[in-house]
Amino acid sequence: MKIVNEAKDLGEAIDPKHEVELLCSNCGYDLDEEELSADTCSNCGATLNLRQNTKIYATSIPPAGGSTLV
Ligand SMILES: [Zn+2]
Repeated sequence: MKIVNEAKDLGEAIDPKHEVELLCSNCGYDLDEEELSADTCSNCGATLNLRQNTKIYATSIPPAGGSTLV
C-alpha cells in the first residue's frame, strides 16, 4: 500500500510531499492495510518484515515576488 503525506510547513523547513510504500522485505509484495498486521506475508509466506520505500515528489516552489515579465 502507499501512503501519501502532503507537504508540511515545519516553520524552519518544509517537509516535502512524499509517498511511503510498504512492501514485504522478502519478496517485495505490495501489502494491503489488513496484511500489515499479519505475522506472515500472504504472498511468500515468510515472517513479515516491512520494507519502506519513500518517494519524494519533486515539487517546484514558485519564486517569491511573483511578478511576470511579458
Ligand atoms: Zn513476501
